[in-house]
Amino acid sequence: MNKSIAFFDLDGTLIDNKNEIWVIDKNNPRKPVLVLDPIEFVLIKKGHYKKDKIILDYNGQRYWISEQLSKKLQKRARTENMERFGISLMPWVDRDLLNKSEIEYIIKNIEHLNRNKSIDIGILTARSNQRTTSDQLNNLRLELKNIGIDIKKIFFVGKSVNTGQNYINKMVVLLEHLIGFKIKGGKFISLKQDWYPHVSFYDDDPQNIHYANDIQKIFDDILRKTDDEIFHIIMERLDEVKIRLDNYQVTTNETNRFIESSVELKKPVRCPIKENNKMKMKTLKTFEQFINENWITDKVGEFTNKVKSGVSNAIGTVKDTVKDLISILDVPLLPEDERIIRKSWYEWQIEHPEDTEENFVKNNLDLFKNYPKIIEKYR
Ligand SMILES: [Mg+2]
Repeated sequence: MNKSIAFFDLDGTLIDNKNEIWVIDKNNPRKPVLVLDPIEFVLIKKGHYKKDKIILDYNGQRYWISEQLSKKLQKRARTENMERFGISLMPWVDRDLLNKSEIEYIIKNIEHLNRNKSIDIGILTARSNQRTTSDQLNNLRLELKNIGIDIKKIFFVGKSVNTGQNYINKMVVLLEHLIGFKIKGGKFISLKQDWYPHVSFYDDDPQNIHYANDIQKIFDDILRKTDDEIFHIIMERLDEVKIRLDNYQVTTNETNRFIESSVELKKPVRCPIKENNKMKMKTLKTFEQFINENWITDKVGEFTNKVKSGVSNAIGTVKDTVKDLISILDVPLLPEDERIIRKSWYEWQIEHPEDTEENFVKNNLDLFKNYPKIIEKYR
């Protein structure tokens, strides 16, 4: 039972996949009109070129591109019709292309665990498709076997390529192993997961590491929805054993490869969940005691600081909390709340290109500060 497990991300952590991002002509999407520079794609994903007001829409993915890039495309494809173009992540999902791409295995990020039999090794990747990945994984297995490392578990948690929605799924896998129960429908259920009170997590994406450092919050949210019986077992486990997550942000620094941080899971202050409609008002009262004025002031301060330091997922936290409150009341959202609560900043700015991120953040914070009024409205 004292065994621990180390989960490794694939892309950028164990595999250096020099895959290409394409701009394609929708009439012939299997050939790129242009291969995007990775740095350029990062800027595009961030919405950096919003001001140029040129959108490419393909396969449900919409991106703003620069005027400069649009001119280049028009010239190459000899058309002014921008609707013909789209950004394609196909090289990431197409098996033939994936096999053709150049691959390097970054063994240096894992070799220190070589022959350490008390640590199991797991893969935790945001890739979604096992079939397209299988050849690369088989090769990785062989490379690792050569240095005495066996992969024991593999989790594919991605739903689609590069939409950035996969962070939470990785945290769910980490929590399941830290606690020893599976998570379904946002709560722990009575199905056992292999229990490792000590888990390590290696990932090159700072955002993933940020979430992992904040795992207590996600743990609290999941516990709040968990049924009493399992909840009590988990509380006992927290009394019995120290439960620890060690996070290693993988960097390209050769001499100092990892930025390390560590989190010990603690018992939450638990707010009771609703059992049925009769309980609703009672539950709400308790909820209101739990989340009092001071708590709100604290949280607003905390979120404001996060926003200032450029951590945009602070808004996700605000929205989740408001959603939780409203789900307790179990009523449909009014349109004016729906528009803010249900939308990510990315979706919001596509519909409202004139709006600023600061404004979006402010709207969400106002909503949060006004939560007692919101509750009143839905009561
Ligand atoms: Mg990665």
